[in-house]
Amino acid sequence: MARYTGADCRLCRREGSKLFLKGERCTSNKCTFDRRAASQGKKELTPGPKAQMKIKVTEYGQQLREKQKTKRFYGVLERQFKGYYEEAVRSKEVTGEKMLKLLELRLDNVVYRMGIGASRDESRQIVNHGHIQVNGKNVNIPSYQVSAGDIIKIKDTKKANKFFTELKGAKIVTPKWVSFDSAKLTGKVISEPTREDIDLQVKENLIIELYSK
Ligand code: SF4
Repeated sequence: MARYTGADCRLCRREGSKLFLKGERCTSNKCTFDRRAASQGKKELTPGPKAQMKIKVTEYGQQLREKQKTKRFYGVLERQFKGYYEEAVRSKEVTGEKMLKLLELRLDNVVYRMGIGASRDESRQIVNHGHIQVNGKNVNIPSYQVSAGDIIKIKDTKKANKFFTELKGAKIVTPKWVSFDSAKLTGKVISEPTREDIDLQVKENLIIELYSK
């Protein structure tokens, strides 16, 4: 299945939830989702009346939507996504939480969480283009799994790149399980994220039910 190349904001509307796919725009007053919700006088956007009339949400439909929302949030394809589920099943941890943890620990997501890239898409490109080192080694695989204690840094030869000089000294707020020193352009994975650390509003148990059929 090919990667989705259409309008990102349509995906947020489809999932009825902000997926933060467009970087700074998502937290500004330009966010289409927030603007449409405000025009409806609601906190969250719901499909229009015509669309609602057509929707008969089955149990399968709910499970499918939760899966699609999560896939789109992390920007992964079906085959990769199912791979995370299968790995989570093999682990001794709670399957749904483990699956989300594996997605959070992807290198592209960690680069995003550290504030290096403005979105997961941009962070994926930063990794793909070979700007990142993990524990001193070049890594250009967005799905690379990082571990607690790993040091993520911008390659010395890339630090003069305008994109990264603009990052220098910036005040970046990160989730508590990662840190990023914007003066040194170096970050650390402090610990693995817990479910509470993951800001995706999803019922991961529905995804597990879907795959368990
Ligand atoms: Fe979604 Fe708003 Fe970002 Fe568009 S700007 S991708 S609607 S969160």
